[in-house]
Amino acid sequence: MIILTNSGSDNELKEHSRFFEASGLRTYTVSTSRGPVTTLMGPEHAGLEQLPQLSSAFQHIRPNVPYVLASKTIKDTPTIIRLPNGISIGGNNLVIMAGPCSVESEKQMNEAARAVKESGASILRGGAFKPRTSPYAFQGLGFEGLKMMRKAADREGLSVVTEVMDADDIPVICEYADILQVGARNCQNFALLKKVGRAGKPVLLKRGMMTTIEEFLMAAEYILSEGNMSVILCERGIRTFETETRNTLDISAIPVLKSKTHLPIVVDPSHAAGNWKLIEPLALAAVAAGADGLIIEVHPTPETALCDGKQSLRPDKFASMMKKINQLSSIMAAHRS
Ligand code: PEP
Ligand code: MN
Repeated sequence: MIILTNSGSDNELKEHSRFFEASGLRTYTVSTSRGPVTTLMGPEHAGLEQLPQLSSAFQHIRPNVPYVLASKTIKDTPTIIRLPNGISIGGNNLVIMAGPCSVESEKQMNEAARAVKESGASILRGGAFKPRTSPYAFQGLGFEGLKMMRKAADREGLSVVTEVMDADDIPVICEYADILQVGARNCQNFALLKKVGRAGKPVLLKRGMMTTIEEFLMAAEYILSEGNMSVILCERGIRTFETETRNTLDISAIPVLKSKTHLPIVVDPSHAAGNWKLIEPLALAAVAAGADGLIIEVHPTPETALCDGKQSLRPDKFASMMKKINQLSSIMAAHRS
């Protein structure tokens, strides 16, 4: 890939894009704090020898990290993602996404949406297409589930985040969701990453359970390099030798990622812990470490949940956790200002 910053006119940019596309390269232009940046995707050597022919308005960047667009080299201010209902992710506010692991019924979604909204969440989570370890386990309600979630969210003025497993479902999911989630198991499904990158919606990318921070940023780069700069990184625990918890929440990933990228970082303590009793301390730790948000599983009746009931908070527990989170969040905000 070749990266160019440009300060040329629109016409110059179009002319150069045509030139590169004729050389077999795909071009994308994204806006960054350095101005527009054009990425040329294709074989490493293609077009490189042509670079001297570029007008002086274009500058070839050679960054010292492989995840160029995700890095602070390109953009040194935090990325703030604005959703249609006025919610923003990144910057100085803490965003709370909450809801059940999977959509099960209209009643369950309405109750979940009401409860999480009451406690201060602004985004409803819920899976309609579930990545289950067993093919015999509940796989989600599919499109019917999407409709239920959208309806419940709209009643409460919430945005919607939901997982995409199959690229063929992207157009329909885009009709119902505000944020497309790529799950841990698909973190390095590069074909899917490219397609969600072209969907025109913000993407919540979960860290794979065996993914290093650099690999995680490279996965984000796949989405960014398709022209979509609205990527939210999600630390959700990695697999270690420890068996007391479902995964090990990598708290250090938060400050490490903050030092390397402008993208917002949210933390999912539910899938990290696998146990509702650990959600509150891990969520507080994540906020204290500088997370831009949390994504938490909340179910009206966890004992009847079709998926991940053991790690789901009851609405009353979520409410009491949120009181502490809000107190901590204002202390953190005071330190930032
Ligand atoms: C989920 O958010 O429901 C989920 C399956 O998470 P992960 O991909 O992190 O396991
Ligand atoms: Mn789950």
